[in-house]
Parts: sequence; structure tokens; C-alpha cells
Amino acid sequence: MASARVDILGVGFDRVDLAAAAERIIERHAAGQRTFVITANPEFVMLARRDAELGEIARAANLVVADGTGILVASRVLRDALPGRVPGRLLVPAVLQLVSGPVFLLGAAPGVAERAAETLIRRIPSLRVAGTHAGSPAPEDDASIRERIEAAGARVVLVAYGMPAQERWISRNLPLLASVRTAIGVGGVFDQLAGRVRLPPRFVHAVGLEWLWRLAFEPRRWRRQRVLPVFAALVARQRILGR
Ligand code: UDP
Repeated sequence: MASARVDILGVGFDRVDLAAAAERIIERHAAGQRTFVITANPEFVMLARRDAELGEIARAANLVVADGTGILVASRVLRDALPGRVPGRLLVPAVLQLVSGPVFLLGAAPGVAERAAETLIRRIPSLRVAGTHAGSPAPEDDASIRERIEAAGARVVLVAYGMPAQERWISRNLPLLASVRTAIGVGGVFDQLAGRVRLPPRFVHAVGLEWLWRLAFEPRRWRRQRVLPVFAALVARQRILGR
């Protein structure tokens, strides 16, 4: 029998596509269970390889999904194919359509989360936004941010501090947030919803080249995407040597 998660260079990915990921989150939410969701890409995997604590955070997360083509291709190369991509920008509206209770948008530059919230409310009129806060991922700010989220009565927290700061933040704080059931690290999703970054046309998404599109329009990603050839080489090695 296949193991529970697909192992990509030491990070386990849940065998879910977008619909199944949203469904799992919503079911757990409805049952009152806490859920920590990581939307991980090859850069995350490379960070987790070098950082044992981050690897442990990924193991302990309740759902780790493949945010993008790189992970999907890697899973196929390793002959343990994941069923589909789960981009954060599609997972967020899919979850918020169905989840009950107010949502808090934490992170991104000042004003961005507010605009992202406006976009979400336009798309999902039933959505209740408990609050937004640019905040800071620094641990010394944790307590005051938790107070804000609790005071707002949030059930869902979306955290846009970029990886791995957002995953560390959720790992430290979710167990201490009594009102919150679901927390998702969403990276640049608020920037996308706020119209700060140019979204790729549908065909670019369909052929799996969103990463190339983002690279072209967000050149600061060059530095981070330098790890991708190493990722590809390590995946090839894992296939040849097995685990
Ligand atoms: N960010 C933030 N505080 C920080 C660092 C980053 O709010 O200290 C925000 C940033 O404004 C952006 C998001 O985190 O909205 C990271 O976006 P990116 O596309 O880099 O996400 P990643 O690909 O790292 O998940």
C-alpha cells in the first residue's frame, strides 16, 4: 500500500487535488478540528532540507499540498504521482466559499490585506472578514497579534508572511489561538488578490508554466528560483537511488 504522504526529498505531500484539499479542510473545520495547511513548492522543500526544524513543522502540519508544477512533476518522476496542483490562490477562495465563521487576513504590506479582503468579499458575498493586519512575523509580536485575532473572533487565519516565516508563525501560534480552527500559509496570495501582481492568462496556468510567468513579472524571484536546478537534480537522484 502507498504510504500516507508522497515523499519529495524528505517533505511529505498529501495525496489531494484542489477539490479534495478544500474538502478535507472544510470537513475538519466543521468537526471543530484545528488544521494547519502548508502550500509548499520546490523552494519550500529545499529550505526544509537544510532546516530540520522546518522539516519537523511540515511533518506536523495537518495538510501539505503541492503549490505548483515543480512538485507535481517531481512526484511523477518519483513514480508516486500526486493527483494535482493546489495553488494557494485557488485554494483560498475554494475554502472560503464553504467554511463557516469569520476569516482574518494577516500579513503582506500595509493596505494589501484590506484590498485582498475586498476582492474576496466581491467574489464570495457571504464571507465574513473578522479583520486584517499587516503585522510582523517577529516572535516578540506574537502575543499582541494573537490578541487581535482572538478579539476579532476569527475562525480562519490566512497568513501572508512568505515562507518559511508564515509556517513558523502558524506552528508557534495556532495551538494558542482558542477561536481559530483553520490556518493557511498563503505567501503572495494577498498581493495577487489585491491586484499587485499580474496573474497569468489561463493557458499559462493550463500548461503548468505559472512559475515562468511569475519569474518574468516578479524578477526578485530569480534569487529564490536559483535552487530549482538543484531541486531537479536531487529528485533525479532520489529516483535513481530510491529511499
Ligand atoms: N511579507 C510580510 N512580512 C514580512 C515578509 C513578507 O508581510 O516580514 C509578505 C509580503 O508582503 C508578501 C508575502 O509576505 O505579501 C510573501 O509573498 P511571496 O510571494 O514572496 O510568498 P512566498 O512565495 O514566499 O510564499
